[in-house]
Amino acid sequence: MHFRKEYMQQQLATRKGACSQCGFCCNLLFTCPMLAKKNECIVYGRCRPRACKAFPIDQRDIDEVKLSNATCGFYFQSKLVIDNDSTEN
Ligand code: SF4
Ligand code: SF4
Repeated sequence: MHFRKEYMQQQLATRKGACSQCGFCCNLLFTCPMLAKKNECIVYGRCRPRACKAFPIDQRDIDEVKLSNATCGFYFQSKLVIDNDSTEN
């Protein structure tokens, strides 16, 4: 996974919410080696990999979680702000 640094910074600046530790993104392309039994992360809050902290990067990631009937605790604020602005005019 390689994203432009500017894009990443922009996306992380608009990301709100918090990880609910549902474990969905721990099993995306492969099962993360930090994932222990019962879907518990053995490094959470201490030294998670950068790629782990970066998820979700954009709305597509949130949508992918939803398609699997899971719920990510994060959301992106930018689209909500644009939608609200357009209804006020
Ligand atoms: S490091 Fe991240 S991806 Fe890996 S088990 Fe922990 S929370 Fe999941
Ligand atoms: S899908 Fe979202 S809530 Fe679930 S573990 Fe990943 S970042 Fe956390």
